[in-house]
Amino acid sequence: MNDVKDLVDFAVARGEDDYEEARQAIVWQQNVPDRFPDVIVKVKNQAEVARVVRWAAANDLKVSARSGGHAWAASSLRDGGVLIDLSALNSIDVDVESNIAQVGPGTKGEQLNARLAPHGLFFPTGHCPSVGLGGFLLGGGYGVAGGKRESCMSVRAIDVVTPQGDLIRADETQNVDYFWAARGSGAGFFGIVTSFHLNVYPRPTVGMNLSVTFPLSRWEDALRWGLTVSDKLDDDVELYLLIGGFPDMEDPSIINVGVLVAATVFADSEDDALAALHPLTDCPVEEAAIGDARPTTIEEIYALNDFIDPPGYRYAVDNMWTSAAIDDLVPGLTPIVDNLPSPRSYLLWWLWTADDDQTAAVSSPGPSFYSAYAIYDDASDDERAIAWVTDNMRALEPWSNGVQLNDENLGRRFFRPLTEPKLKKLEGLRDKHDGGRRFFAFPGVE
Ligand SMILES: Cc1cc2nc3c(=O)[nH]c(=O)nc-3n(C[C@H](O)[C@H](O)[C@H](O)COP(=O)(O)OP(=O)(O)OC[C@H]3O[C@@H](n4cnc5c(N)ncnc54)[C@H](O)[C@@H]3O)c2cc1C
Repeated sequence: MNDVKDLVDFAVARGEDDYEEARQAIVWQQNVPDRFPDVIVKVKNQAEVARVVRWAAANDLKVSARSGGHAWAASSLRDGGVLIDLSALNSIDVDVESNIAQVGPGTKGEQLNARLAPHGLFFPTGHCPSVGLGGFLLGGGYGVAGGKRESCMSVRAIDVVTPQGDLIRADETQNVDYFWAARGSGAGFFGIVTSFHLNVYPRPTVGMNLSVTFPLSRWEDALRWGLTVSDKLDDDVELYLLIGGFPDMEDPSIINVGVLVAATVFADSEDDALAALHPLTDCPVEEAAIGDARPTTIEEIYALNDFIDPPGYRYAVDNMWTSAAIDDLVPGLTPIVDNLPSPRSYLLWWLWTADDDQTAAVSSPGPSFYSAYAIYDDASDDERAIAWVTDNMRALEPWSNGVQLNDENLGRRFFRPLTEPKLKKLEGLRDKHDGGRRFFAFPGVE
């Protein structure tokens, strides 16, 4: 252990004074699981990452990585091994000629967009401003104003530390196995990304948002209507439905309990945006309250999401992708809605496209995505909250095509982290590149 302290400025072993404080700080939310790495280190640059991985190999320790610490289930926190905290790897270099940004994995979404905005550029980061780019991109990345394309598909190249402790570049032409796997295998990736080279895009000019609310008792009608109306919306419109607690649109500090159907679009003009949202202005459900379309910005969406999923709370989350008919799903969704564990908790329905791009590991076998979020503040509710998300999603497995890795709960309920052929390919690549299992694999399979 002492020799790792010669490699980095900060390393703390289990049993030492600062260990528990460092362990708690790894996880963004308050529900920090009882898992205990042997050593936690903080690195400042990619050379240190490589040295620590080689040190781990020499000491027969497994390795896990942490970037922004937002994994709901704290996947970086494993039992044993060395946990490498990459949060200080947060540099951003923007090349405005090529529209490529080189970004450290510890960079938060809002930091990247704040740096890009003066150049008239943007990147589809996580909706919550403080999500780390590292875990977000590895897990696919379902980004703000990103259209229905995973943000990892905007990765042009990565710099990676391999299980052998070598630093390599991976892209479409070299080290292609790493490039394939890093775009979508999430907590199942067999390397540490030290830098992402990203395509960035012209910043959208006009953003508009329109919301329709329903009483909680009409959640099924709202969902059926959301599914119907989604057929009339083009791909640029982001449509989601929250059943449970959601912030008031006028005063987001107020939490309503009911159903919120919200659609956001970024377009070239206000007329185009209003036309894109028009199908939502016609809702046959009598109790529906249709709001006015109002201008919005990426920064406002960040702020709203901080109200929906505020820091400082305990969380339990689980999810599924599905293509099942709504009639098949309602019996399994009903206990989720009927037993919300707290006023802030909610069930999210969200629409994606069911593409199956073979060029990357990412799997989004939708088109529908359902995710349950328990948000509460009392540790004595942990068991109930965890059971609410886990047991209800388990009961829906017959209709599930798999889980979305950025909202995974695999340690408690292991179920199809990738589509079957992609999982098989990933495990083959793991055998090839990390046969000695230097890196922890998916939670739930250790
Ligand atoms: C409030 C909130 C809002 C969210 N909104 C969205 C959203 O809009 N869209 C979306 O897609 N997701 C969203 N997420 C989920 C989020 O993208 C994932 O939890 C993601 O893993 C977080 O990345 P991180 O770097 O912050 O997390 P971390 O906990 O640091 O990392 C998660 C896992 O990724 C792996 N990992 C991280 N960095 C590296 C690296 N550099 N090299 C190798 N492996 C690494 C590790 O296995 C690690 O356990 C949200 C999460 C929260 C808490």
